[in-house]
Amino acid sequence: MGKIKIIKGDITTLSCDAIVNAANSSLLGGGGVDGAIHHAAGPELLAECRTLHGCRTGEAKITKGYNLPARFVIHTVGPIYCEHNTAEAEALLTACYENSLKLARENGLKTIAFPLISAGVYGYPQREAIRVAVETMKRHTTEFEELTLVLFGEREFGYTKEDYPDFV
Ligand code: ADP
Repeated sequence: MGKIKIIKGDITTLSCDAIVNAANSSLLGGGGVDGAIHHAAGPELLAECRTLHGCRTGEAKITKGYNLPARFVIHTVGPIYCEHNTAEAEALLTACYENSLKLARENGLKTIAFPLISAGVYGYPQREAIRVAVETMKRHTTEFEELTLVLFGEREFGYTKEDYPDFV
C-alpha cells in the first residue's frame, strides 16, 4: 500500500518520477509554480510544451523533466475559482488530480509530487484545495509507492498539521 506525505518545500527540488505543474491552458509558462518549474527544467521544457497545443481545465499532459531532478512533468490546468460555482470548481480540481494520476499510472510512474493546484493566482481557498488534494490522493494510494503534496507556505502547512496530522 502506497503512502501519502505532505511536506513544505519547493517542488522543483524533488527527485521523484513526476512532479505535477499547475499550468495555464496555453502550457507556455506562467508565474508561480509554473514559472519555477520552467526555470529549473530549462528551455527544452517549453519547446516540448509548444508541441502539445495547450490543455483544457481539469485535463493533464505529460512531458520529460529535462534539467529537473524529476524524470517527468505532468502539466494540469486547475480551475480559476471565481469562474465557477463551488461544486463545479471542486469537480474540476478533482479532475486535475485524477487525470494527473491516470497519466502517471499509464506511464508506470510510482512516485508523484503535487503542488497545491489552483490555490495561488487562481484563487481556490487553500484549506479546501488541500482537502480536495488529500481526498483524491487517498483514493489511489494502492496504485503508487508515494504521493506527496508539496506546500509552499507556512500557512497552508499549518492547516495540514491540524487537518491531516497523520500525513505530515
Ligand atoms: P494556480 O495558477 O493554479 O493558482 P500558482 O502557481 O499561482 O498556481 O499556485 C499554486 C500553488 O503553488 C500555490 O499554493 C503556490 O504557493 C505554490 N507554489 C509556488 N511556487 C512553488 C514551488 N516552487 N514549489 C511548490 N509550490 C509552489
